[in-house]
Amino acid sequence: MTTDLDSGTNTPLADANPRRVVAVDAVVRNLQLPSGPRRFDVLNPATGDVVAAVPDADPAEALDAVTLAEAAGRDWAARTPRHRADILRRWYDLIVEHAEDIALLITREMGKPLAEARGEVTYGSDFVRWYAEETVRPGGTVRDVPAGGGTLLTRRAPVGLSVLITPWNFPLAMATRKIAPALAAGCPVVIKPAALTPLTTYYAVNLARRAGVPDDLIQIVSTTNASGFSEAVLPDPRVRKVSFTGSTGVGKVLLRLAADNVLRSSMELGGNAPLLVFDDADLERAVDGAYAAKMRNGGQSCIAANRIYVQDGIADAFVEGLTEKMAAALVGDGLADNVALGPLIDGRAVTSMRQLVDNAVGHGATVRTGGHTLAGAGHFFPATVLDHVPATADISSSEIFGPIAAIQRFRTEAEAVRRANATEFGLAGYVFTDNLDRALNVADALETGLVGINQGVPSNAAAPFGGMKQSGLGREGSAEGLDEYQEVRFYNIARRGTH
Ligand code: NAD
Repeated sequence: MTTDLDSGTNTPLADANPRRVVAVDAVVRNLQLPSGPRRFDVLNPATGDVVAAVPDADPAEALDAVTLAEAAGRDWAARTPRHRADILRRWYDLIVEHAEDIALLITREMGKPLAEARGEVTYGSDFVRWYAEETVRPGGTVRDVPAGGGTLLTRRAPVGLSVLITPWNFPLAMATRKIAPALAAGCPVVIKPAALTPLTTYYAVNLARRAGVPDDLIQIVSTTNASGFSEAVLPDPRVRKVSFTGSTGVGKVLLRLAADNVLRSSMELGGNAPLLVFDDADLERAVDGAYAAKMRNGGQSCIAANRIYVQDGIADAFVEGLTEKMAAALVGDGLADNVALGPLIDGRAVTSMRQLVDNAVGHGATVRTGGHTLAGAGHFFPATVLDHVPATADISSSEIFGPIAAIQRFRTEAEAVRRANATEFGLAGYVFTDNLDRALNVADALETGLVGINQGVPSNAAAPFGGMKQSGLGREGSAEGLDEYQEVRFYNIARRGTH
């Protein structure tokens, strides 16, 4: 265990468990990474060390990937749903079989604690199982023309070649949440993983091939030239769909590119989730839920609780409870024992945390725990609680993407809802109350695509995840997630003898 020298506190930084280091080294050695003339390094955010080097594709190579995927896609679309389902199911089984290796790899390239990486493997693999099950469900409908004289038959067809662009924060789940429904629908894919975390995508797609997915059907394009990729690929007439998860700013750039080619577009963008705790909430459940909603993935989640609003009557007890829990979070390498908070993804993220804290304090917020920089080669920042954060502080309007709980207080339900909705984002919201009417009324009033009621981890493969307002377009997961990769067509069959 090393000690934090920089801040003058004794916050411990836990070191990786040596057994796990040996295990993850073996996983990295056995990665079957493609060769390529140019390569870039993937770094371990806990140490800054190089994990592996992957191909750095240029725009021409991205277009080659489109050619290969498109050719493989014709045969795939013609296979039966049952055939596709069986292959997806085998892919799911292989992910489960290799769950520990994948979790180790996620932690190595992204930093999250191993226990959370295991959770991501469960969550990420669930999308593959769900779509293996979903693809054999009937998708069409039969209706009579209301005025008579015909029957309307609706059919579903694969939308076509799909370009998938994923972020670094959930390297497996963000990939499977897109690849599985695309394959289930019969679409070929070109996926560009985040340059910070491409290794998990390579690993998972290798398993998909072992499961029977045709070699060329999923093309991975790892690149440091993200804009070169999208500017080459999205205007290509063979591409029919773009699905993006990432920041709202980049999403808008991609939507503009998609407009010229009229691409079906799914956008899972940034969030600024409000979490509301009412006086009548169960205190323990509210503290645990807020902790989970804030600290999962070190706060680097699009649905992380960004603005925590607490009603006056419960506020002091809540702040005390959350502070105690946050202060106890052991910070360190994601492969350390009992670690609750890994490194942030890079140095810029640490700088951003510092600036948000300083700005909030400058506006009158009080630091209850954390707030200082931690020493070490990795990008660490401690779990931090800020109380009495004013709405004017930067932290109240920006996506924090780190382990800072920013607490504001409120008096009435109407005031809480008004303040919660005072943002251009609308991805997730949270409500803690033991009053069922209030829970549902407030959930209805929140302008967000999903609401956690008395719980901090609402996502599920069976649920239609997605945002309102500038948090996105479309849904991922559930039956709705398959719709995103399908065209609905209709045949109007003329009939004699009907009215
Ligand atoms: P980002 O927008 O910087 O990057 C996301 C992906 O887009 C990466 O693969 C990146 O290389 C790529 N990219 C960047 N510029 C591009 C361009 N011009 N053309 C093509 N690709 C480009 O986001 P990030 O920092 O990786 O992820 C964090 C953001 O993602 C946060 O805003 C978070 O809220 C959001 N997010 C949203 C969801 C959701 O489901 N709504 C889920 C996870 C993360």
